[in-house]
Amino acid sequence: MRIAVGGIHTECSTYSPVLMAVENFRVLRGADLLGAEYFNFLDADGIEHVPLLHARAVPGGPVSRAAYEVFKAEFLEKLKAALPLDGLYLAMHGAINVEGMDDAEGDWISAARMVIGPDCPVAASYDLHGNVSQRIIDQLDIFAAYRTAPHIDVRETMVRAWSMLVETLRTGIRPGVAWAKVPLLLPGECTSTEDEPAKSIYLGLPAFDAQPGILDANLMIGYVWADEPRATACAVVTGTDRQAASKAAEAIAQQYWKRVKILASARSRARWRTCSISPPLPKHPPLFSPIPLTIRPAAGLATVPMSCVR
Ligand SMILES: [Zn+2]
Repeated sequence: MRIAVGGIHTECSTYSPVLMAVENFRVLRGADLLGAEYFNFLDADGIEHVPLLHARAVPGGPVSRAAYEVFKAEFLEKLKAALPLDGLYLAMHGAINVEGMDDAEGDWISAARMVIGPDCPVAASYDLHGNVSQRIIDQLDIFAAYRTAPHIDVRETMVRAWSMLVETLRTGIRPGVAWAKVPLLLPGECTSTEDEPAKSIYLGLPAFDAQPGILDANLMIGYVWADEPRATACAVVTGTDRQAASKAAEAIAQQYWKRVKILASARSRARWRTCSISPPLPKHPPLFSPIPLTIRPAAGLATVPMSCVR
């Protein structure tokens, strides 16, 4: 069986005027990709791993449209040359902003899907500070995100996503991805997984994984430093049972909303000055559904200032 490997991975503040260029990325391709320590877990028996292109950069401003198109064109060219494939693994971050685009990961993953067709499973690993969109969810079969911030489980997360893909190919049981949005954006400074409100939720994710029909449960904090319509927190669950995955995603989303609200209320009585967490958690539409979800505009999101920290 043949699994192609690639992706694009960085985070971009839309408040920076300095665009990222091609030379700001470390690009892996061919033997360099498979030989890199970052990807040296790709060693399953009976699987041929086909390296495409993986471009990665440290955080910066938006990526120039020209640089993005250069990377995307090479990635797609290599993907076409790699056909036929049994699976595709994408190592993503989730917070790229490209000039002139609101959902660059959605564009990248959709373009890949157009090449490989609807029958080839696609797995993606993400940073928990990434943003997700309906377009992304619709194209993925498998999703796994970091469960620690500061991030000390990068490799483990990549292995989770890739292992689910390998298992899918071996069993023939194709999973799907459900999600539930939380109309809330908190900065990373307020959402370390070593402190509440995030700590107990992340500690509880393995219990969701153990439920029948669930493979991998995630809470996405979202990326607060990009002013784009898709920016929001959300729960994203990979599962083989649609109903179970949808239910788990809603439960995780509700947990996050309630814990933030309780904490915000307590802190506002003490030190928090301007928390404005008041809108009720909306009833999420059924997941695995083509019905587009309504994304609240950025101005409607509850935000917490940097001064909320301790
Ligand atoms: Zn992060």
